[in-house]
Amino acid sequence: MPSNPSVDFDAIVIGAGFAGMAMVHRLNRDGFSVQGFETGADVGGTWYWNRYPGARCDVPSLQYSYQFSEELQQEWEWSEHYAPQPEILRYANHVAERFDLRRFFRFNTAVTLAEFDEANGHWKITAADGSVTRAHYLITAVGCLSAANTPDIPGLNTFAGQLVHTGHWPDEGVAMEGKRVGVIGTGSSAVQAIPIIAEEAEHLTVFQRTATYTVPAHNRPLAPEEAQEVKRDYKGFREFCSSKPGAYGMLPNMQSALEVSDAERQQIYEKAWQAGGIPFSGSFYDITYDLKANDTAQAFFHGKIREIVKNPETARKLLPKHRFGVKRLCVDTNYYETFNRANVALVDLTEEPIERITEAGIRTTAATYELDILVLATGFDALTGPLLRIDIRGAGGTRLRDVWAHGAETYLGVSVAGFPNMFILSGPGSPSVLTNMVVSIEQHVGWVADCLHYLRAQGLQRIEADAAAQQAWGEELVAMVAGSIIATGNSWYTGANIPGKPRRFMVHVDYPGYVKRCAEVAADGYRGFKLAGG
Ligand code: NAP
Repeated sequence: MPSNPSVDFDAIVIGAGFAGMAMVHRLNRDGFSVQGFETGADVGGTWYWNRYPGARCDVPSLQYSYQFSEELQQEWEWSEHYAPQPEILRYANHVAERFDLRRFFRFNTAVTLAEFDEANGHWKITAADGSVTRAHYLITAVGCLSAANTPDIPGLNTFAGQLVHTGHWPDEGVAMEGKRVGVIGTGSSAVQAIPIIAEEAEHLTVFQRTATYTVPAHNRPLAPEEAQEVKRDYKGFREFCSSKPGAYGMLPNMQSALEVSDAERQQIYEKAWQAGGIPFSGSFYDITYDLKANDTAQAFFHGKIREIVKNPETARKLLPKHRFGVKRLCVDTNYYETFNRANVALVDLTEEPIERITEAGIRTTAATYELDILVLATGFDALTGPLLRIDIRGAGGTRLRDVWAHGAETYLGVSVAGFPNMFILSGPGSPSVLTNMVVSIEQHVGWVADCLHYLRAQGLQRIEADAAAQQAWGEELVAMVAGSIIATGNSWYTGANIPGKPRRFMVHVDYPGYVKRCAEVAADGYRGFKLAGG
């Protein structure tokens, strides 16, 4: 039962991914009534939708998992160092069953409209099926990379073959055998899918606009002794990881790439390459800040690509030209090696742009490529997209779409001025995508739940970001990345991948500093928020 009889529930949670599941679990445990909504047919979020071949996490499994239950983390057994998508989805299902979470969600039910009812001080939620639900609090758990980007390429709808997006992969899979397949895109999703598709399809053509930086995962089965070692003191392991940048449990090499000899630098890069995965970014502390240091990282990749890819012309096309660190580093298994296969071709769209998609395939300025299947690995309208595809209207009917017309503004990445009693999990302005997401999700879930307890205990009915605090937060985000390579380039971090989207770096880059700030804000009576009684 909600504490206020004028609403159906204390809180509404949108999304049944890792954030939504943790949120409903916590609210229910703490005595708040909650209703969840989910567009998909079941739990899992990212891991529900991204079923493309080769999909796998690039954060180690022992870290990419919930820590709210010691029994859960002790009993669940991961089979690989980096878990594949089916295993992560099994884990999500296990969590849903173990904690009986499905009962809180209405599946196959997209929320289309969320309106703050000023007179009654609560949220009115309308779903695609026309149903209306009222709750005191609105908590969005819609994910950061869940609004798939389908590029506006002329003729896309005329393609007669099968058209699929990696972010909306069909449940039943896509039969590639004997087929001519085209993949547009070479980001994280594509580098995982391409090697598997190449093995299955008769022929694969990769349409590349920006050559990517990708490091080998060197994935491996997870040795039982390794898991046991962590489980002996899982709490200590979690604390250690959370105290490091992005909660990834690693520290960058605090040497400059420029203070070592060429031979030593090569050796350090090589060691990081052999170790594999995201930690490569920390080979030297300055490769994403200092342009000369950054040049050395690019040179290392160019050397690797030329070494692996046998055809010099293909290797040339695969050399990244943008700076290392502008876009998220990809992690692969046999990506560059795949271009040595006889059934794989690479088309450089900077040399021959797509003119249009036809019934038969893709026509570039230089040639026509006939295809049976076209895979769009074209990414997402990141961070703001998942929120703005819902029509969210705050106090006075103000639309979030209008408020964010020039870029997302939040306080702590959790709250927006003018949108009372609304909380965003992993929102723009929080560390989200630059962290081990499960860890930062749980931090947000805990912080929001604690906040609701505080409001209840104080007899407060309303909370929202103060406009001045929000502005200061935005300025702080900008100042934090001033001079860094990540904030200046064309990437989904800045909105540059979506035509017409306002350009603004949307992520807080200091986790765990962010956690400390959130705790201080709470301890200081929710400094920077406007609170009001009943
Ligand atoms: P992405 O990194 O945004 O890559 C999209 C790709 O599509 C880029 O190569 C992009 O080229 C290309 N593209 C977009 N529109 C195009 C157009 N009109 N014509 C030609 N090419 C076009 O998307 P993603 O690969 O789905 O990955 C998104 C994020 O999801 C990742 O950065 C990562 O955070 C997460 N992810 C993680 C994993 C993992 O854990 N291993 C796996 C998959 C995804 P441009 O670069 O030129 O725009």
